[in-house]
Amino acid sequence: MISLQDCRSRDGADTLAPLRHLFNLPEGMIYLDGNSLGALPSAVPHRVAQVVAEQWGRDLIGSWNTAGWFDLPRRVGDRIAPLIGAGAGEVVATDTTSVNLYKVLSAALNLVEQAEDEAGGARGTRGTRGTRGTRRTIVSERSNFPTDLYIAEALSRERGWNLRLIEPHEVHTSLGPEVGVLMLSHVNYRSGAMHDMAGITAAAHAAGVLVVWDLCHSAGAVPVELTQADADFAVGCGYKYLNGGPGAPAFAWVHPRHVARCWQPLAGWWSHARPFAFTPGYEPAMDITRYQCGTQPIISLSALDCALDVFTEADKLGGMPALRTKSLALTDLFIELVEAHCPGQFELVTPREHAQRGSQVCLTPTHSLPAGCAYAIVQALIARGIVGDFRAGDAQQPDILRFGFTPLYLSYENVAMAAQGLQEVLANEEYAQPRFNRKQAVT
Ligand SMILES: *Cc1c(COP(=O)(O)O)cnc(C)c1O
Repeated sequence: MISLQDCRSRDGADTLAPLRHLFNLPEGMIYLDGNSLGALPSAVPHRVAQVVAEQWGRDLIGSWNTAGWFDLPRRVGDRIAPLIGAGAGEVVATDTTSVNLYKVLSAALNLVEQAEDEAGGARGTRGTRGTRGTRRTIVSERSNFPTDLYIAEALSRERGWNLRLIEPHEVHTSLGPEVGVLMLSHVNYRSGAMHDMAGITAAAHAAGVLVVWDLCHSAGAVPVELTQADADFAVGCGYKYLNGGPGAPAFAWVHPRHVARCWQPLAGWWSHARPFAFTPGYEPAMDITRYQCGTQPIISLSALDCALDVFTEADKLGGMPALRTKSLALTDLFIELVEAHCPGQFELVTPREHAQRGSQVCLTPTHSLPAGCAYAIVQALIARGIVGDFRAGDAQQPDILRFGFTPLYLSYENVAMAAQGLQEVLANEEYAQPRFNRKQAVT
């Protein structure tokens, strides 16, 4: 069994350990929720203060030119690109994940419909079968993040498509001739399970299906190779593993082969080829800036830009491959310690296989613990300064204790202390205390 001393030695040998000093973390807290809201990089408060006082307060409107405000979404996109295997000029940091998903999913539907129109036109059958083509189904996972499903549902209603929800093991068999678009999260927010992006994308393309990947729980956490996987579209989050702060701008990526082929529906002036010409007619930009809409939150973009400096530092220490190695070591250690200290009390929801695991570990209580205790266990841990989170289950899915392991700022000692805290919460039956019980907490 690995001792606390062993963990401290591993920390001593951890070449990524200096990165922790680039963050402001509350004293005594073990923060295992960086998959929901990343921690604050220490340089961000000063950067934000500077943008507010100097760029806004002093230079005012001139900052659009002198501070490069207009290009900021592109420049921040260029800094995200290497983290997701995309090229320079292919990513834009803008809007929210939900809004970006609406844009790229709409574009994917446009491409499918255009391809059918073109094929129909070539066969001389255009119009003879009405306006509906044969591929009018979006496939996604039932356990995908709800906003992704809501956006897909709304868009399906608007466009006369169907949304079909499947289980993770049904992805390959779901790709029938009626399917136009497959929309998946690379790493599942609930289970921490990771899909084989290259394998699924290849299978989808072989079946004539476009793929939209959501990278919210991947970007900055696991290596992503969009270009190598030949993906079509991707979106992702700025406030999780990229540490851009609450409501940080999200990002969008479109494969260069698609980017100029169709309009996206939120065709605001920032997506225009010449926004400052102020012409009445719309003319889309030919590159990824087509996926912007209107004026962007410069202060939030600046915070995200500054937060990405952490990854510049991480690059000097081995970059994403080194971060991935440490992330797997941290999650392996947590699994090993929980199974040793809390035998039979939890079932592991996250896959054990490295190739199928994101950067989090999810547990569900077994029947050896009182029914419905997951919420109270998480609350008891938070009271001890060990911050994970709880995700309620339903008929299809169990209640989940979710622990995110950000390799940028977590140590092996943190993992050992978290597992020990969990063991003590169970041993002392802290979850039975009324203050950690949901009903009491609400009243
Ligand atoms: C966090 C997350 C989102 C968040 O979307 P917002 O528009 O930022 O609220 C969307 N999708 C997935 C898969 C997520 O994990």
